[in-house]
Amino acid sequence: MPRAENADEEVRPAPERRRRPTADDRMLTFHSRLRERGLKSTGQRDDIARVFFELRRHISAEELYAEVKKVNPHVGYATIYRTLKLLKECDLLFERHFDEGQARYEVAGEHHHDHFICDRCGKIIEFENDDLERMQRAIAQKMGVLLTHHKMELYGLCADCRTRQ
Ligand SMILES: [Zn+2]
Ligand SMILES: [Zn+2]
Repeated sequence: MPRAENADEEVRPAPERRRRPTADDRMLTFHSRLRERGLKSTGQRDDIARVFFELRRHISAEELYAEVKKVNPHVGYATIYRTLKLLKECDLLFERHFDEGQARYEVAGEHHHDHFICDRCGKIIEFENDDLERMQRAIAQKMGVLLTHHKMELYGLCADCRTRQ
């Protein structure tokens, strides 16, 4: 089942959501990976990481900044940016570049999925398709290449924008 996501809309079925690690789990992982790197957790870093883990996915740095400000008004944009970089280095974040848009960040370690992006409203819908995955592996095999990862992005008008046309 596809998961529509823009504002606060989320249609993933509940049982699947419950199996996902909580923000607390991810904070523990974050702290242990910081320790591995000889880094300490700081109050600001923690506030940013927690908001990121708790929030909806595919968030831009500016959106995250606005959300973190509600929790900790002292956090500066540079700290947001550095923390996003750190989360990426800790393999806790995926950076996405959809079309020419600004970078968007989502929590890593979720099930593999691809994206549909609405050209009009910017809604991002996640999908998984076994046939598509199989076909990509078959293409790679035919070319004799070793596939490490892929990005599949579909663009167009979402169902809402279509009906509004
Ligand atoms: Zn749309
Ligand atoms: Zn995604």
